[in-house]
Amino acid sequence: MQYREMKGGDKVSVLGYGCMRFPTNKDGSIKEDKASKQLFYAIDNGVNYLDTAKPYHGGRSEPFVGKFLEENKLRDKVYIATKLSGWYIKETKDFDKIFKEQLKDLRTDYIDYYLVHGLNGKSWAKLKELGVLKFLDKLKTKKKIRNVGFSFHGNIEHFYQIVDDYDWSFCQIQFNILDTEYQAGMKGYLYAVKKGLSVIAMEPLRGGRLAQTPPEKVKEIYANSGYKRTPAEWALRWVWNYQGITTLLSGMNQMKQVKENIKISKDSFSGSMTREELQVIEKATKVYKKLMKIGCTGCMYCFPCPYNVAIPSCFEYYNGYHLYKDEKYKTWYKNFLGDKAKASLCVNCGQCLPKCPQGLKIPDLLKKVVKDMEQI
Ligand code: SF4
Ligand code: SF4
Repeated sequence: MQYREMKGGDKVSVLGYGCMRFPTNKDGSIKEDKASKQLFYAIDNGVNYLDTAKPYHGGRSEPFVGKFLEENKLRDKVYIATKLSGWYIKETKDFDKIFKEQLKDLRTDYIDYYLVHGLNGKSWAKLKELGVLKFLDKLKTKKKIRNVGFSFHGNIEHFYQIVDDYDWSFCQIQFNILDTEYQAGMKGYLYAVKKGLSVIAMEPLRGGRLAQTPPEKVKEIYANSGYKRTPAEWALRWVWNYQGITTLLSGMNQMKQVKENIKISKDSFSGSMTREELQVIEKATKVYKKLMKIGCTGCMYCFPCPYNVAIPSCFEYYNGYHLYKDEKYKTWYKNFLGDKAKASLCVNCGQCLPKCPQGLKIPDLLKKVVKDMEQI
């Protein structure tokens, strides 16, 4: 495993474990045996950064991670990153209440990396008004948190403002071959690095989409490159090529992903990609961008829909149908979503809109899904 140094001096593994996509049972609970095996393998192979948050797995991620670390006496082997999720904060006293719950769930006295979660201009303004800066200073002084950062899903102007608003150690941005001009994007990355922040890459595989079998045209580009690499390997190597990326987070839900990512991480050095390799990625990216209809990352922040629409699944099948021009996506849509979770159940109530970090106009997009996937 390679390690890169964070602003505060910690040597963090270049591969971080995203604890939002553990294997799950039908009822949504975490398959603890499988998830534990994966975590063991990752930690045994040098992964030392676990990224969780209160809302992940419907509130089950933090308690599972806490239990796993305590029972296996691994707390001192890893850095825990978790988040202050602003949507739980209605008044100032909620900051303390939520933080105490997190310490209890994670079975620890301190958090190594505490991030203000999923910020955009509006959520940042609200939290500042409620006193978040004072709260963070207090936790730092009391040594309850070691490093303070933020994760971001807004526009670039707000990103600049938030970086300048506080003495952050790090930030976490969506960074992958497709999102260089999206949200913070490349401009945000460069700005954060210039300001001395460590940068953590989230969604390096765009919610796993970039690891899937690519469309034919992309397949051809990769096949003709002269390199024998999976699509995931191309995408991960691109992220690690940037020296300012300290670690990238991968929400690995299968052992084979853990193994593959660890293997790739071993020789993905910063600045190591050649001009030819970068050109391969540029060509593949152009094709993906042309074919990808909806930029949903599958983060599930829009859940639950009161009318039971399986929003990310609707978008997933719709994107698959257009990317691969394959009717089987319509069959899967029908079989897996049935009449209980399909797009046409949407009544345009708008409840999901403010929750989507990608700013997707969900009800409008669902209408497109209905047109292509439900109407014959
Ligand atoms: S707008 Fe549609 S998808 Fe969104 S919460 Fe309302 S019913 Fe669900
Ligand atoms: S629609 Fe938005 S909030 Fe919902 S899963 Fe997709 S990206 Fe996440």
